Amino acid sequence: MDCIFCKIINGEIPSKKVYEDEYILAFYDISPAAPVHIIVVPKLHMGSMNDVNDGNIEYISQIMLKIPAIAQDLDLKEGYRLVTNIGKNGGQTVGHLHFHILGGRKLAKMG
Ligand code: AMP
Ligand code: ZN
Repeated sequence: MDCIFCKIINGEIPSKKVYEDEYILAFYDISPAAPVHIIVVPKLHMGSMNDVNDGNIEYISQIMLKIPAIAQDLDLKEGYRLVTNIGKNGGQTVGHLHFHILGGRKLAKMG
């Protein structure tokens, strides 16, 4: 499958990893929008949150469980933003579900 994040998961494309287990991979965004910008992906291809179902929800649960520890390891004590873009109007550019962890400075109000 021609999916950038699947290729990162299987090692075909290099990434700077910050956390990995059997369900999830977290790595630095190649084009950071904040001083700390991490991408967290399930190790199972799904297009977006619109594709979450009873069969793959375990991957999302694991991401949600691990994000606070990942943020702590990144020293985001003052807080951070967790974002997932869905589809064209959501601004999604990579069609493999992912969560952005953004922090390291006070972020602008969302609009
Ligand atoms: P989105 O626009 O929500 O789909 O986010 C996709 C994100 O993936 C963008 O912030 C890109 O900078 C990031 N990205 C694309 N290719 C790579 C890559 N090879 N390694 C790390 N991050 C990437
Ligand atoms: Zn994929």
